[in-house]
Amino acid sequence: MPELPEVEVIARGLNADVAGLRIESVEVPGLTRLSEPAETLVPKVVGREIERVRRRAKVLLADLDDGSTLAFHLKMTGRVVHGPKRVAEKHDRILFFLSDGSLLSFADMRKFGYVRCFPAGELERWDFLLKVGPEPLETAPEVLAERVVKRNCAIKALLLNQSVVAGVGNIYADESLFRAGIHPETRGSRVGRARAVRLFTELQAVLRQAIAENGSSISDYVNAHGDAGAFQNSFNVYGRKGHPCKQCGGTLQATTVAGRTSTFCPACQRRR
Ligand SMILES: [Zn+2]
Repeated sequence: MPELPEVEVIARGLNADVAGLRIESVEVPGLTRLSEPAETLVPKVVGREIERVRRRAKVLLADLDDGSTLAFHLKMTGRVVHGPKRVAEKHDRILFFLSDGSLLSFADMRKFGYVRCFPAGELERWDFLLKVGPEPLETAPEVLAERVVKRNCAIKALLLNQSVVAGVGNIYADESLFRAGIHPETRGSRVGRARAVRLFTELQAVLRQAIAENGSSISDYVNAHGDAGAFQNSFNVYGRKGHPCKQCGGTLQATTVAGRTSTFCPACQRRR
């Protein structure tokens, strides 16, 4: 699933491409079950100008000129791609034909992703956004640390919990825990304030580096132009179980925390 950096890269690419363009027409080859029905979605967006594309948590948001917002959640295999002309995609769900003749498409093979349009004032009342925690790149590490240091859950589970901090998934949770030297099963209350601050400082660094490297391409992720990211080449632990630790040379291990595989170095990330 694309995490914060991948969705941020898509949002920045799309914003540069489509801000100021008008949606001339829409084709709906078949929306996913979680999407808004085409009958209500299409009339809301045809004729509207896209003012800005941005990201909140892992959701891509296109603000339209009447105050409404198109929201795309990519989930497992969703893709939002912009290009000069139509490229047939087997799993196209909705196609937006824009005023310069270009095409914005949402494709999703596994159909867990969705698209919805929120009229002016309603996005803020979307229960999904009401529940989501602070943005990790826009919040001080000290403030984020306060959200975990009194909690009795495993720190890895807290990082993955979208109401604790927004946009973090398995990759960036594992990578930031490694950089901070924290075992993924350590309880939040046992991490300690100073190390929790270090964790969120490392999380910010890893997220910024991943954005700069166009995100991580491990399954289907591509940016707004269909290009793969490069940050997967910089992984220290994610997907490297059984490989040597880049820091100490020991063998990386994996355990399951909150239902997700967590790869870590038993020497560099000692359990407390
Ligand atoms: Zn190590």
